[in-house]
Parts: sequence; C-alpha cells; structure tokens
Amino acid sequence: MSPEIVLTSSFRFGSFDEYAKSCNDEFDSYVYTRGTNPTTSLLEGKIAELEGGERCKVFASGMGAISATLLTFLRQGDDVLFVNTIYSATSSLLKYMERYGVTWSSISSCKTDVIASAIKASTKIIYIESPSSQKFELVDIEKIAKIARVRHIMTVIDNTWATPLFQKPLNHAVDISIQSCSKYIGGHSDIVCGAVISSKKLIRQIEEFGFLLLGSTASPLTSYLALRSLRTLPCRMRTLECSVKVVIKFLENDPRIKKIHHPLCGDAWQRKLAVKYLDGYGSLLAIDFANPDLDRFEQFINSLQLISVGVSWGGFESLVLPAYRKTNSETVLKRGLDLTHVRLYVGLEDPSDIVSDLSYALDQAYGSL
Ligand SMILES: *Cc1c(COP(=O)(O)O)cnc(C)c1O
Repeated sequence: MSPEIVLTSSFRFGSFDEYAKSCNDEFDSYVYTRGTNPTTSLLEGKIAELEGGERCKVFASGMGAISATLLTFLRQGDDVLFVNTIYSATSSLLKYMERYGVTWSSISSCKTDVIASAIKASTKIIYIESPSSQKFELVDIEKIAKIARVRHIMTVIDNTWATPLFQKPLNHAVDISIQSCSKYIGGHSDIVCGAVISSKKLIRQIEEFGFLLLGSTASPLTSYLALRSLRTLPCRMRTLECSVKVVIKFLENDPRIKKIHHPLCGDAWQRKLAVKYLDGYGSLLAIDFANPDLDRFEQFINSLQLISVGVSWGGFESLVLPAYRKTNSETVLKRGLDLTHVRLYVGLEDPSDIVSDLSYALDQAYGSL
C-alpha cells in the first residue's frame, strides 16, 4: 500500500550492456540518486499529472527548484521581469545574478497593460506569482503568457499558494510551474522540498544543468513523506478552504482591521480573475491594522495563544508572520506594505478556535468592540 523508500545513493548494474544503456539514458533509468531515484520518480510522476504537465523534477527545496530553473535558462545579457510581490528569496536570487550579467526589472502592478509595457528587447523570462506573496493579488496569467509567447519570452509561475488542485497554470499557456512542496504538498511542517513542472523538452534542459550539476537533490525519505502527504491533499485543501472563509467572515467587518489581502477580498476585477483561474481558495492571507501603533501591534502578536509566530506555512498549525521586524521599516514600506502588515496562515485546527484566538488578541491590543 505504502511506497518503498529506496534509500540508496547508487544502483548496481547487472551487466556491461545494462550499465552502458542506463548511463546513456540517465534521466529515465537509475544510476545515482543525485539524478534519479525510484521514490522520487514516483512523486515526480504524480505531481506532473496533478499540474497537467508532461514531466516534473523534484528538488531539495522550493528555492532549489526556482534557482535551477532560472540558472538553466538565463544567459549574460538577459533580463527577468518579475511581477508584483514575489517570494523575497526569489528576488534576492535575481539580485545576485547581476554578477553573472543577468539583469532584472520589477513591476509592482498586477495590471496586464502595465506588465506588457515593461517588456524589453532583452526580456527572457517573465516570472509571476499569482496569487502573489504578501498581497495575494492575481494577474491575468493567460493573457500575459500569450503576450510573452508571441515575443518568444518564457513564462514561469510560482504556483505554491494555489497548489495544483486549485490552479493549473500550464493549461493557461504558462511554460513552467513551480511548487514549494514544503508548504501545502508537504502539509505537515516536516519536509523542505520543491518541484518544477513543464514539457519534457524544458524539464530535460533543467535536468541536464540546473538539476544534475547544481545538485539540489531531494532525499528519498523527503519524497516518501511528500507522497504520503499527497494522499490527503484534497481533504486538507477542502477543510482549509472552509476555515479561511470562516476567518475572513470574522475579520471583514471588524473596524480594527484596515485591509484583508486574499483573493476573496479583492476588487471586482480581482474577483473575476479568481473565478477564471482558481478552483478553490488557499488559507494564506495577510491583514493590515487600522491603528498604525507598533506597540499595540506587538501586543496583538504576543496575545495570540493558539496561533504561533513562525515562518513557512502549509502545515497543521496556524501561524502569523509580521513583515516588520523592528529594524526593517524602510524595506517593508519600500515593498508597498503597511508596517502592521501581518501574514496569517489558517491551519487545520477547529476554525472556531482560530477565530476565538484572533478575537482575544484583537481585544487585548486594540480594545473590545
Ligand atoms: C516557501 C516558498 C518558496 C520557497 O520554498 P522553500 O521550499 O522554502 O525553498 C517559494 N515560493 C513561495 C510562494 C513560498 O511560499
């Protein structure tokens, strides 16, 4: 019932001929676990099918998947256009790539015409997160992918928020989809893992360079845990979708909350995009408080009892993550965020317990209604 954890680094060949054949076809046979492993291959097959792609490559982390993809396709002189608020480690990586002669442009809008007008002659990749990190805004993926395709620009999307169950970007003309499997796919806060899904042709290029040579290989044990978690992904996502709706309903008419960042709370255009692209709603959102006082904000965070403070998300436990960390106000404001911007991951606890916890902390910090 449960798949094998093939915990080996190397594979034995039965004959000279088998050795020669395997080494000449190293991405579809088992030679060495830095390249392929049966437990990891099983996971790759399943994620490829879920995303609707021909092939998937699994990595040791989401950043392993992202860096392998960007390093495989970018050359000196190329520009990457990244759209809106993307995962901060991804933008840090692109900034480091300046030393290899790769430039980047960033556009802080989700409007298609603004994004299209930022395309340059040197644009090689348009990198999207939709819904985006921090603001959870959507872009019109298919329109952007089609504009890019006409100009021979590759589109890459980080699809971690929606999971392959709630959004299938490859069906909307996007070239490459990326998952951080450390989040919903892993689902239990016990693995760090990533995946890239695309056509056979593009994945082969990533396998040859960004994967095999940069060496961000997932352990077979990690792949096993991700396989175990995939079995409950639909149940977990359905429950989380119901819970996030309960939490938003509680927060949306509270005068102490200035703004909720989530696709369910966007303007009419955002709602239209959500209906077009999303088959369900993830439980990661952010809130800004009406009162800008940072001592009260700190009191709110410290008053939470069920919800902990911590990075990452996608597991059982509800979490908050303030953008402001006492010494970074300038960076937070530059990213277009309020100083009271706090990310909230709604986990699998009883939603009424999550609401009670938020309610108690709001009363403690901002006074009861
Ligand atoms: C966590 C995350 C990543 C990075 O994944 P790791 O597995 O932590 O390396 C990338 N994109 C998004 C949207 C994430 O939430």
